[in-house]
Amino acid sequence: MDGCSVSMEDFLEKIYETVERKGYARVADLAAQLRLKPPTVTRMVQKLGDRGLVHYERYRGLTLTPRGTAVGRFLSERHAVLEEFLRLLGCADPATVYRDVEGIEHHLSPDTLACVRRFVAFARQNPEWVAAYRRSSVDQDQAAASPVSQPWG
Ligand code: CA
Repeated sequence: MDGCSVSMEDFLEKIYETVERKGYARVADLAAQLRLKPPTVTRMVQKLGDRGLVHYERYRGLTLTPRGTAVGRFLSERHAVLEEFLRLLGCADPATVYRDVEGIEHHLSPDTLACVRRFVAFARQNPEWVAAYRRSSVDQDQAAASPVSQPWG
């Protein structure tokens, strides 16, 4: 997202999800959810305001501009497609999937993201193909079960 830092992307994604749910977001709620101090949140809100992404009124909380909504939707959808991709690969633990997506999502090029989207769309349309993959990966895990599958830890 044109020059936004990782934390700004996460922050805008969280605002988007909160606004989608409640119609607005408050600095105090965002601070609690993101474990940040309210002045830090206010500073980030001001930066997003300078970029034309959020409207902020001190007592009414914040909402997204049309551009902020579009970028927030993109960030939220990117997160969702990557989660689905990892689940399709067979990654089952929701907390691990969430944490890994939080790490990966900021580092994909648009081209790679488009490839992941195509893959996920294909898999959705071909559930029998996904089922065959799942069966084969269970067989492979059983065949490859070895004490050095995680040499680093
Ligand atoms: Ca995310």
